[in-house]
Amino acid sequence: MALTEAQLKGIHAWRRRVVILWIVTMGAAIVVWAVAAAFALPLAAQIALGALLLALLGFAIATMHRGKCPSCGQPIRFAPRIELPLACSRCRASFYSA
Ligand SMILES: [Zn+2]
Repeated sequence: MALTEAQLKGIHAWRRRVVILWIVTMGAAIVVWAVAAAFALPLAAQIALGALLLALLGFAIATMHRGKCPSCGQPIRFAPRIELPLACSRCRASFYSA
């Protein structure tokens, strides 16, 4: 079972989005942590920053869970280190062009 070029492009673009989102989320977490450590922020600002981080984290997780095999709809689970698996775990469609 082979995927079309467009389907392959789609899942690779999705995977790139997930990686970028995680990097942005981690970067934001570090910035928020540094700012909170350096300045005595008012409680409202701390809550706002915390909410922003949670929203980013939720968005990253939601985007990650949206990935599905274009062929059969099986959700794609990342191998360790946010790598795309070689093929769908259900229909065996390859996620890489030959
Ligand atoms: Zn599949």
